[in-house]
Amino acid sequence: MSQTLEIIIVDDEPQITELLRSFVEIFSGESNVHTFNDPLEAKDFMGDNRPDILITDYKMPGLDGIELLKSADQSVRKVMISGYLSEIATEQLQRLDVTCMEKPVAMQKLGDLIADVQDQKNVSV
Ligand SMILES: [Mg+2]
Repeated sequence: MSQTLEIIIVDDEPQITELLRSFVEIFSGESNVHTFNDPLEAKDFMGDNRPDILITDYKMPGLDGIELLKSADQSVRKVMISGYLSEIATEQLQRLDVTCMEKPVAMQKLGDLIADVQDQKNVSV
């Protein structure tokens, strides 16, 4: 039996969170996907819930993606999807251990990452 993945998707643009939700649902059979258009709401949610994967945009009003990633537990697999990755210091991304993907995101790349996390979760149970 595969374990249910908890996945959080954060982007200030609702079309993008919905697009990513449909990508993620194709690749992760059993998953609970939570989408947020307000990064502060996502941060609050993570106070009580530890996701397996956190996928976030960088540029968002209220809290940027880097600050949001910093608030996530170290064990959370972190993904940043942005058209502005070159504006972020490489050391910062390395320190947070983030997988970066350019917008528009390649569906297969995201699918591979989800499969990897799913495998790890099944092995560790
Ligand atoms: Mg944005």
